[in-house]
Amino acid sequence: MGKPKAKVDGEKCLACSGCISVCPQDAISMCGGRAFVMVDKCISCAICIQTCPVGAISGEVY
Ligand code: SF4
Ligand code: SF4
Repeated sequence: MGKPKAKVDGEKCLACSGCISVCPQDAISMCGGRAFVMVDKCISCAICIQTCPVGAISGEVY
């Protein structure tokens, strides 16, 4: 089982771009008015999860 990667809940995301600013891997982009994590780039650091003001990001094991 791999490490959990960040996953955005599109229903909760406010498109504030906060997670995009803090991701050290540039693994998050805005797509269709919500943040989207490119799991191939994500290193599971969880910084985005701690940054999101509405708790829209969680860890998911792929
Ligand atoms: S867990 Fe870290 S590397 Fe992965 S998307 Fe969030 S900030 Fe970027
Ligand atoms: S920090 Fe949260 S609300 Fe802001 S763009 Fe990222 S997922 Fe959406």
